[in-house]
Amino acid sequence: MDSILTSAFLAAVLFAPAPAAPPSPIAPARIIDMHVHAYARDERWQARIGNPVTGQTMVATDENAHREATFAAMKRAHVVKAMISGDYEAVLRWKQAAPDQVIVGYSFDDPEKVDLGFLRQEKAAGRLDALGEVGSQYEGIGPNDPKMEPIYALAEELDLPLGLHMHPGPPGATAIGYPKIRPALGDPLLLEDVLVRHPRLRLYVMHAGWPFLENMIALLNAYPQVYVDVGVIDWTKPRKEFDRYLRGLVEAGYGKRIMFGSDQMVWPEAIEMAVAAIQSADYLTAGQKSDIFYHNAARFLRLEPTTPVAPKGAMETLPR
Ligand SMILES: [Zn+2]
Repeated sequence: MDSILTSAFLAAVLFAPAPAAPPSPIAPARIIDMHVHAYARDERWQARIGNPVTGQTMVATDENAHREATFAAMKRAHVVKAMISGDYEAVLRWKQAAPDQVIVGYSFDDPEKVDLGFLRQEKAAGRLDALGEVGSQYEGIGPNDPKMEPIYALAEELDLPLGLHMHPGPPGATAIGYPKIRPALGDPLLLEDVLVRHPRLRLYVMHAGWPFLENMIALLNAYPQVYVDVGVIDWTKPRKEFDRYLRGLVEAGYGKRIMFGSDQMVWPEAIEMAVAAIQSADYLTAGQKSDIFYHNAARFLRLEPTTPVAPKGAMETLPR
């Protein structure tokens, strides 16, 4: 979700007595969180918006406190690495504080405002690890909009993972500061031509394209290089809805392409809520959980060697 959700709105819409998932008996050994945010400032800190699901009081209300609270939540949840995006300068300060844990992302909404030269320079200097969260949907810019072309080309050129926000956004978003957002622009199949034009793009669809399950499955089926993260839907959606969606992706055969994400925003405790939602999922095996928590992201980020899903040539024998 984007960094500037209107606080009063969030409190009104999301605050609900949804019980947190029950704690799991065995904590996962290690987790990569592909969806964490850092901010230099945020209006929700001033408004002290409690956790939108539990109502938990907000205590970390500036950059340093938020960073320390998020690192503490990561440690408690065994999150060993996280893709951090938001205010770039803040992300770089997080990197300085925890070089081994932080994967530096560059976040933006409007692709026309991005200085491509700056990104080349940051990559060359070794500071930039990923593009995203890309919130172009908030600007009414679809994934297949020509304005996005230079971004995709740059991601390919620099061999950078790209995390694209695909989600309807908050209910009522057009009335609270995002007049251009359209849920229809979150349809994963809008990425088809992009993936044909940019076959080397290391794309992950943030929020797993919720709620477009069937189209997400169609995209994952057609483009084996695409991954998803389950940020925000794993702790803000009703448990049954999250389970329906995650289970749908796993049972369709894409358990190796789903990455853990929290999208903690200004609520560091959301990391543990998100972990609990997956850890307590009785439809996942221990192996599927460790894939989602760690191995899928490690493969996507090339932190560990890739094992081919099928032997060479096997796919050609499948019926057409
Ligand atoms: Zn998002």
